[in-house]
Amino acid sequence: MARDPDCVFCKIVAGEIPSVRLAETPLALAFMDIGPISRGHALVISREHYEDLTAMPPQTAGAIHELAARLAVALKEAVAAEGVNVLQNNGRVAGQVVPHFHIHLIPRFANDGLRWPWPAKPADPAELKRLADQVVSRLSGA
Ligand code: AMP
Repeated sequence: MARDPDCVFCKIVAGEIPSVRLAETPLALAFMDIGPISRGHALVISREHYEDLTAMPPQTAGAIHELAARLAVALKEAVAAEGVNVLQNNGRVAGQVVPHFHIHLIPRFANDGLRWPWPAKPADPAELKRLADQVVSRLSGA
């Protein structure tokens, strides 16, 4: 199993640094985030060291998301949340700080003050089509 000796999440997987664990599967591990954005903020990570989603076999990503989906239900109930954000950052430019694949589960509450400051712009239909063609031509296994 691939491991990075300097990676904080690899150390959590190995039990070398403490974590408040929620669930484990052969490919995934879930634990409470040490710097929660909201009450109940949890992380689901790969057991093996992959830097991000783009470095991981799609089947492994699927198995880890399966745990995230089950955990989202339990988490939402446990903290009486009204919603849950599922956030997954890939790359420093996308806000990823820990370079080991992880999914954030962020329970949401009315008036919790959290907002995504991402401005939406109207799309140019011709550009959407052009971009879609570029993506589809690179999509394998579709
Ligand atoms: P990201 O910005 O997507 O890389 O998020 C990394 C997340 O890992 C942050 O929410 C941190 O609070 C969390 N984190 C970092 N170190 C630990 C740790 N030792 N135990 C639990 N969560 C951690």
